[in-house]
Amino acid sequence: MGFQEEIAKRRTFGIISHPDAGKTTLTEKLLLFGGAIQEAGAVKNNKIKKSATSDFMEIERQRGISVATSVLAFIYRDKKINILDTPGHKDFAEDTFRTLTAVDSVIVVIDVAKGVEEQTEKLVEVCRMRNIPMIVFINKLDREGKDAFDLLDEVEQKLGLSVVPMSFPIGMGYDFKGIYNLYEKNVNLFSGDSKKNIEETIAIDDVNDPQLDELVGSEAADTLRENLELVDGVYPAFDLEAYRAGTQQPVFFGSALNNFGVRELLDCFIDIAPAPRDKMAEERLVKSDETKFSGFVFKIHANMDPKHRDRLAFVKIVSGTFERNKPYLHVRNNKKLKFSSPNAFFAEKKEIVDVSYPGDIVGLHDTGNFKIGDTLTEGEVLHYKGIPSFSPEHFRYINNADPMKSKQLGKGIDQLMDEGVAQLFTLEMNGRKVIGTVGALQYEVIQYRLEHEYGAKCSYENFPVHKACWVSVEDEKNPEFLEFKRVKQKFLAKDKQNQLVFLADSMFSLQMTQQKYPSVQLHFTSEFD
Ligand code: GDP
Repeated sequence: MGFQEEIAKRRTFGIISHPDAGKTTLTEKLLLFGGAIQEAGAVKNNKIKKSATSDFMEIERQRGISVATSVLAFIYRDKKINILDTPGHKDFAEDTFRTLTAVDSVIVVIDVAKGVEEQTEKLVEVCRMRNIPMIVFINKLDREGKDAFDLLDEVEQKLGLSVVPMSFPIGMGYDFKGIYNLYEKNVNLFSGDSKKNIEETIAIDDVNDPQLDELVGSEAADTLRENLELVDGVYPAFDLEAYRAGTQQPVFFGSALNNFGVRELLDCFIDIAPAPRDKMAEERLVKSDETKFSGFVFKIHANMDPKHRDRLAFVKIVSGTFERNKPYLHVRNNKKLKFSSPNAFFAEKKEIVDVSYPGDIVGLHDTGNFKIGDTLTEGEVLHYKGIPSFSPEHFRYINNADPMKSKQLGKGIDQLMDEGVAQLFTLEMNGRKVIGTVGALQYEVIQYRLEHEYGAKCSYENFPVHKACWVSVEDEKNPEFLEFKRVKQKFLAKDKQNQLVFLADSMFSLQMTQQKYPSVQLHFTSEFD
């Protein structure tokens, strides 16, 4: 198969949702279609099996959340599908944001009873900002939930999307009869048998066909006809270009647990979802079909085996082919590196691979060369944009609790920050270190990992900060800026990239500072132009 065909057959995407909406269940059912796993439950089982082999994963298991962002790949209808799993727990939102820089499209899962939830709002906003194509899957139709039209309204209003229903439910909850597929023009009857891998569909080109009445009963058939008329009047037709540009979002209904409506979702996804997209580097736009390799690190995973300190750096291939044992330029270090055992991911396994293509993810063993956001190329100096840091929500001083182990502590903090577990700020005034995290849970993870992986002990101390703002100013000699630095000295710090950061202790002080020093610009993410 040629290089172009290899690119065209890849679909790399992420599934995002609020916890419990059904992301794991849907992922599992999608894998079933690829024949990648034999039985339902395998995705979750796999998580538990892994956790039993290491202490660190044990705390995750106990908390019932997955800290890991893994890659699951399978072949379906000749397409190579790469699912980049994203942690749903809000404390690991930053992991998910970073993973979203590596996807070419996403599926958003929404619980029919709960509607749009907080975490969905945040993640969809990030996708909207980047014009990532999105398909919405409304899940748990076997349960009583909100009215379909109300939900579609809610999705439009709360998520700022322009939806196009591609399927429509016939009844709901106890009365759930099935789904009319507007995309394929057929009816799929719900039997509630979750063991069935693929449901049977009945082609009904015209909803006025009396066969529909026979299948679902006249009342439900009439309601469906009315609903479809309304859909026709209210929503635009599906527009592939608009979907791919991120301005229109197709919606499917179903029940992941019952494997119902999942095939429809997947079949449509295969048809419409974009192949690996071109990506903007600071220097230029890089096209996915360029033959020279380039890629970037979006995730670093600590080795699950505590005896081996090495880590796995997840690289998204943007262009060209990545080959085993070929030297590539690590742009930030200006160093050539070779990889003798790059991992590819298949189903829930990883294996060594010789050649990978745009859209694929390779896992590279790393002994500390990589940071999140690093670019690899065949020699060209390229920096991929789009992995900003956001202001953390929590801030604490980190103190050394074992004076004999200060070196280990320094190294541990350094490496954990490179992995993107949290953000480190060093206060300008006294050099004290402050750790900023998205969720409180990270402090426990950091403490645990410092102890178990680096043999270091730390303690924390509260540091009340409302928001971290990255500071920029046109002229560093501007008297206003010098005044700002003098007055706010106590609240100034450097991040790991040596960028100046203002740690505002309250909303009020942030607003006052903005008013008082208008020429000093405060940004809520680390990436700004
Ligand atoms: P995640 O946190 O988004 O990964 O959600 P899970 O996939 O773990 O699902 C959360 C819960 O919802 C589990 O108990 C699932 O069995 C259940 N669930 C998932 N899909 C459905 C569905 O279609 N119908 C019903 N009734 N329950 C579902």
